[in-house]
Amino acid sequence: MAAPPQGPAPERPQSHIVRENPARIGEIVGRVPVADAARVDRVVRDAEAGQRDWREVPAEERADVLRRAADAMDALPGIAALLARESGKPLGDCAGELRFAAAYLRWAASQAPAVYADREVDDAAGRLVLRRRPYGVVAAVTPWNAPVILTLLKVGPALAAGNTVVVKPSPLAPLAVTRVLELFPPGLVQVVHGGAETGRALVGHPAVHRVAFTGGAEAARDIGATAARVITPTVMELGGNDPVVLLDDADLSDEAMDRLVMASFATAGQVCMAAKRLYAPRSRLAEVRDAYLAAADRTLVLGDPLEEGTTVGPVISAGAAARVRALVADAVQRGGTAIGLGAVRVDVERGHFVRPTLVMGVADDAPVVAEEQFGPVVPLLPYDDEDEAVARANTGELGLGASVWSADEERAFAFARRFEAGFTFVNTHNRTGMALRAPFGGVKRSGHGREYGAEGLLEYVQTCAVHAPAAFRPGGAGMGAGAYPL
Ligand code: NAD
Repeated sequence: MAAPPQGPAPERPQSHIVRENPARIGEIVGRVPVADAARVDRVVRDAEAGQRDWREVPAEERADVLRRAADAMDALPGIAALLARESGKPLGDCAGELRFAAAYLRWAASQAPAVYADREVDDAAGRLVLRRRPYGVVAAVTPWNAPVILTLLKVGPALAAGNTVVVKPSPLAPLAVTRVLELFPPGLVQVVHGGAETGRALVGHPAVHRVAFTGGAEAARDIGATAARVITPTVMELGGNDPVVLLDDADLSDEAMDRLVMASFATAGQVCMAAKRLYAPRSRLAEVRDAYLAAADRTLVLGDPLEEGTTVGPVISAGAAARVRALVADAVQRGGTAIGLGAVRVDVERGHFVRPTLVMGVADDAPVVAEEQFGPVVPLLPYDDEDEAVARANTGELGLGASVWSADEERAFAFARRFEAGFTFVNTHNRTGMALRAPFGGVKRSGHGREYGAEGLLEYVQTCAVHAPAAFRPGGAGMGAGAYPL
């Protein structure tokens, strides 16, 4: 009997993730196919094959790929609106993220060839060449709150260094970032969609040699364990519970207070480096509160992300809204006061809208202070002296960002050294304090590794050495006294 024809194995029907607009419950924004372990394997093997050619491309040409992707991003129609509809972030916010991401790609392109260049010393001790070697295939597992920039912070340097990349975006905002990644040449960056199961298949794949993760602690623990089984190193950007310390000479002008308010409520507070605990001198507490409420009236408009004037959109999901409301209810039950902030210009039942809220009169052990709220609520807390403020600011396992506000810059920089934080802002906090050249990342349980800056580029290479000790070079004198004997 003739053998049946051997065609390619039929693809199993794929399941899909359907993304709904968090500002309009029931409105479907798009869908993406879920990658199972077999698909992840094919994609990683493709990326592995592609990397062998890509790593041989000269560094300047690799950098040009980043520049071209940045230009194409700038010209991509409708991308900010797509990001706004899937994430609930105000349209201006989304456009800002895209512009910043393009700027980052251009910056990385301008720096990468020099940062990754070979280094050589040839002196009395011998000849030493240091080579920056790409890892191979990089897996990037990314969150939903700023999906484009948080993905390109990994993809940009990884590609510039000569790696190829497989990205697993968050199922809560997979659409805009996928469109952006399609702007890179085929084969260099690939996308697999899904949740934890897809992420695990990717992170634990034996042909992946570097994992870059941004997200929460629970996923981080699992990803760390999965990567450890195949001895793959990770870089992790995790949550924060950033303190803000206003010193007694802090500027409470409208402009400064508007900046402070937006540092907490941009992206409805769902930012790892949002200003999450405000410490003010007790002697100025009432003054700070009044200035803060006035600033909130000027800056906060809860509304539809696509409508002009909206500065705060919905939170990402019904679960997130319930969690944030429970934090506020708990604070009130503990005797605290919850003050609704800014204007509400939307039917809050239409989406996952939570009114921005200032909480006062709670102790530091209330969950609204002690936990990362990741939503539009922030506590204002009095302190009596600076040593106490530092100690309270440094309480807890997280150490991502912090800020100090003072009219005296020297005093602010001296104070900043006392924070247990990877990044301290002076007289600002959150996005307005970010700089492409300044490395960003956490200490303590807020993660390890850095993004931005030369340090962020160096996360995607390993330094390899070639060494000819002087003693053994042609004509050398052999091993002398003081050498390390065999
Ligand atoms: P998350 O940890 O739930 O998910 C992040 C990504 O990991 C998603 O793609 C998700 O599908 C994937 N994932 C989840 N479990 C996994 C597992 N077991 N194995 C493999 N992949 C898995 O985070 P989120 O809700 O998307 O984002 C919110 C968190 O991210 C907050 O804690 C926030 O502070 C943090 N964050 C940190 C930074 C930073 O730069 N430090 C930036 C943004 C967000």
